[in-house]
Amino acid sequence: MRKKLIAGNWKMNQTVTEAGHYFEKFKVKAREDVDLVFILPFTDIPVAKFFISRSSIGLGAQNMYPAESGAFTGEISPLMLKDLGCTYVICGHSERREILGESDEFIARKVKCALDHDITPILCVGETKDEHDAGKTEEKIETQVRAALEKIPTDKVSNVVIAYEPIWAIGSGAAATADEAEAVAKLIRQIVKNIAGKKVSDQVRILYGGSVNAGNINDFTGEKDIDGALVGGASLKPEEFISIYQKA
Ligand code: PGA
Repeated sequence: MRKKLIAGNWKMNQTVTEAGHYFEKFKVKAREDVDLVFILPFTDIPVAKFFISRSSIGLGAQNMYPAESGAFTGEISPLMLKDLGCTYVICGHSERREILGESDEFIARKVKCALDHDITPILCVGETKDEHDAGKTEEKIETQVRAALEKIPTDKVSNVVIAYEPIWAIGSGAAATADEAEAVAKLIRQIVKNIAGKKVSDQVRILYGGSVNAGNINDFTGEKDIDGALVGGASLKPEEFISIYQKA
């Protein structure tokens, strides 16, 4: 009953010119049962919109400041994203948590603000290699999920997409095993159940992210609690990203 979702996160890659070349090559047959979304650098969003406006492909941003306008130099607001045609936004990607020091509290504000503006937040959670090796994965995930969801009205929690992205698997070429990813996805669903009830936890979409490619996507989408993937590096190659979407 949950619709699958494949989201391609380009991170800080592709100039406007390169994005144009990419979308000239991106010819895909839409599937009814899987949502496809591009999460792009702000500058590439209008380019993508030009190419995909007549398709069912969705658009999203990699970040957003939780205010409608004001003196926030260098930031982008939910109103700006909506005006560009974005319906998704990543909140709390580990690169922003680790490199830019984003806190759980700040990320919670972004998630709430996105929902208030009818933008679907993709909340990223995940543990470091050290936390993983020390057996602290569950604790870290619970802290991150609770911080972001506890301030949201229960009826809105099902509109959040949660991406489990173990930091050690991101960009490393060494994805988590399907069993490992499923165990954490199941845990996340249980945490959502404790916060918002069973109906909501049955509806919420949980993705896996971290070195997903055309060769391993099926392992993840074959799992009961994994509803799709957040794809970084492999989404930069049109042929491979199409293949991931078709196999999901
Ligand atoms: P990756 O990145 O697929 O390149 O590992 C995933 C992500 O960070 O969203």
